[in-house]
Amino acid sequence: PAAISVRQLSQTIRQNPIEVIKQLMRNGLMANINEVIDYEAAARIAADFGIEARPQTVRAATKRKKPEHEETKNLPLRPPVVTIMGHVDHGKTRLLDAIRQTHVMESEAGGITQHIGAYQVEVKGQKITFLDTPGHEAFTAMRARGARSTDITVLVVAADDGIMPQTLEAIDHARAAGVPIVVAINKIDKPTANPDRVKQQLADHGLVVEDWGGDTIAVGTSAKERKGIDDLLENLLLVAEMEDLHADPNAPATGVVIEAEMDKSRGAMATVLVQNGSLKIGDTIVVGDTFGKVKAMFSDQGKHLRKADPSTPVAILGLPSVPGVGDSFSAVESERQARQIISERTVKKPATVSLASLHDQIAAGKVKE
Ligand code: GDP
Ligand code: MG
Repeated sequence: PAAISVRQLSQTIRQNPIEVIKQLMRNGLMANINEVIDYEAAARIAADFGIEARPQTVRAATKRKKPEHEETKNLPLRPPVVTIMGHVDHGKTRLLDAIRQTHVMESEAGGITQHIGAYQVEVKGQKITFLDTPGHEAFTAMRARGARSTDITVLVVAADDGIMPQTLEAIDHARAAGVPIVVAINKIDKPTANPDRVKQQLADHGLVVEDWGGDTIAVGTSAKERKGIDDLLENLLLVAEMEDLHADPNAPATGVVIEAEMDKSRGAMATVLVQNGSLKIGDTIVVGDTFGKVKAMFSDQGKHLRKADPSTPVAILGLPSVPGVGDSFSAVESERQARQIISERTVKKPATVSLASLHDQIAAGKVKE
């Protein structure tokens, strides 16, 4: 059939897919990035962007393009993992609460009710995973270990306060990790709110918002009055579509530890984010330099789970000790394999010595300064 996907069209006319989708909407066509539209419609949209494209040209151009992500493109999409960052007191916690309250289903009775540092919401049948570990710490800990835990960053900027030092730090973190930024201009309910000033400051730092002709998505929000939340979530889904996030639910699970603690009655408890594969009860997992069997798993709703799909945060029990935040984990076939992996890792690990013990040794004259 004479058709082209929205993604192919965007690539062909070199336009931001979000802009293309918006233009399609203006033309009465609701399409996501993977949807196919006919060449005539594609040519009309191209014309809207000032690009003259006869249906044949669009078609020829498409044929030449190689699809991206050749090896993963047939795998199912996974929910985006989103972190919220921004200056202190700009409303990160309250925004996370507002999202949770408006979009998380009632928790099930009987499960554990404790909070696990991450949660999933559902918007129009699509899931979004939010990490609510303090953004900077999670980022730094995980980046130090080379793990990329986030697909999208929501940068919260208070409309009455504007860009502050930690806002800039957050922008740097996201850029360094290559993670797209969606801006939430928060506290728009305040009489002193000045969203235009925020947009100007963002532009000064290379984030030109869409209504000023740039490609940074910025949404006005009031976490207090729960305004703009849906708009924010829908934009996150749009960005997720562009990012084209796939994972293989049939692979052995791999992922990262996002929170860990010693629970008095249950032992070591870790919240992990499954990044690829599916984690199952009974799986043996290697985490850092230890391993254990997953004895129980709980969702963010405290529900017992037997299986956790890609992008799902789960609390797990069964590890012999508390793992480090940012440690990656992987499911292995057997305890034997687990031991082997750990012994290889231990050999490869460069000898490290703590600063304190180094001081002790210097003091004792064992090591020269
Ligand atoms: P965080 O440090 O970024 O996590 O900021 P918090 O979520 O703790 O918010 C800091 C303060 O700003 C709290 O007193 C919040 O109630 C308040 N706040 C957060 N969002 C809004 C908002 O949208 N409007 C108003 N008026 N206050 C807000
Ligand atoms: Mg906070």
